[in-house]
Amino acid sequence: MAARELSLRGWTPIVMDKGRGVGGRMATRRMGAARVDHGAQYFTARDPRFRSHLEAWCARGAARIRQDAAPGTIPAIRYIGLPTMTGVAKNLAAPLSPHLKRRALRVDFDGDTWTVSCEENESYRARWLLLTPPLPQALALLDASGVPLPTADRGELGRITYEKCLAVMATLTGPSRLPEPGWLRLEDPEPLALVADNQRKGVSPVPAVTLHSGPEFAHDRYDAPADEKIAPLVAAAEPYIGASIGEVQVHGWRFAKPKSLFASDHYCHSPLQLALAGDAFGGGRVEGAALSGIAAAEVIIQHSRASS
Ligand SMILES: Cc1cc2nc3c(=O)[nH]c(=O)nc-3n(C[C@H](O)[C@H](O)[C@H](O)COP(=O)(O)OP(=O)(O)OC[C@H]3O[C@@H](n4cnc5c(N)ncnc54)[C@H](O)[C@@H]3O)c2cc1C
Repeated sequence: MAARELSLRGWTPIVMDKGRGVGGRMATRRMGAARVDHGAQYFTARDPRFRSHLEAWCARGAARIRQDAAPGTIPAIRYIGLPTMTGVAKNLAAPLSPHLKRRALRVDFDGDTWTVSCEENESYRARWLLLTPPLPQALALLDASGVPLPTADRGELGRITYEKCLAVMATLTGPSRLPEPGWLRLEDPEPLALVADNQRKGVSPVPAVTLHSGPEFAHDRYDAPADEKIAPLVAAAEPYIGASIGEVQVHGWRFAKPKSLFASDHYCHSPLQLALAGDAFGGGRVEGAALSGIAAAEVIIQHSRASS
């Protein structure tokens, strides 16, 4: 969102991501013929600024309204990406030609220009650096590179920690037994917080479910052998599965959702031409992350105008 905003305002942002594809926690995995959304399941658009983007994405076929509120969830208009949750990010990124499989290992500022160094001795240079990984990862990169943030700012940013989540993905030999509308948030989220049917969501052509753990279970089992993560979640989901399981995989989200938020929708330190954005700033959701990206882009544009 930040790069798109900068690009619309005449800048030429260089977008890098360590992933094989774009989307981050809006993630989809293929398992044979199945496709499984294993990160964010849907997103809201409560803010009118974000809603206007959504209308454009819906018109372009990159997102649609999800009509089916699950029992017990807060009534809200929910959206999903098309054909999967990565659809929105792919649509946004296409004109920006992102550099994928590029993990930033070190960032250096010479007083005028940033150099971002990646694996295999590749580097990129730019006047401003905008970091949007989960905040602890962004701070780890700055710390490892010896970037001197003001002590009070570093302290405030460093207080934000994240909940973990374990996502189990399973293909099924037949349709799931999930009640309408095909996804469920459990009242007691431990060990199992969510069960979702990817076939009924329209993501997968064959039956496949996503199970999300609660944060306590994820914290306790994060580094346990795969079976100790999978078996309790599958057992808890058994009443909703109703078919034999084919392939099963587990993914750990070390930084699933921020436990608290930074006081502003972005962070900017103009002497270093540095900004930070993401869900720790705008709210621990897709919408908040998107709004944070837009805010950071606007601030970068303002500062660079003021200094020229
Ligand atoms: C299991 C789960 C369920 C969720 N459910 C929902 C939901 O239903 N609704 C909702 O609104 N939100 C949900 N969320 C939260 C939502 O996914 C996030 O708030 C949002 O996607 C965050 O976006 P972001 O751009 O801030 O960060 P991310 O999506 O995490 O993007 C950060 C990007 O930075 C890249 N990166 C990190 N380090 C480096 C590096 N060193 N070099 C290069 N690239 C790097 C990563 O590859 C990633 O692509 C869920 C999250 C999880 C994990």
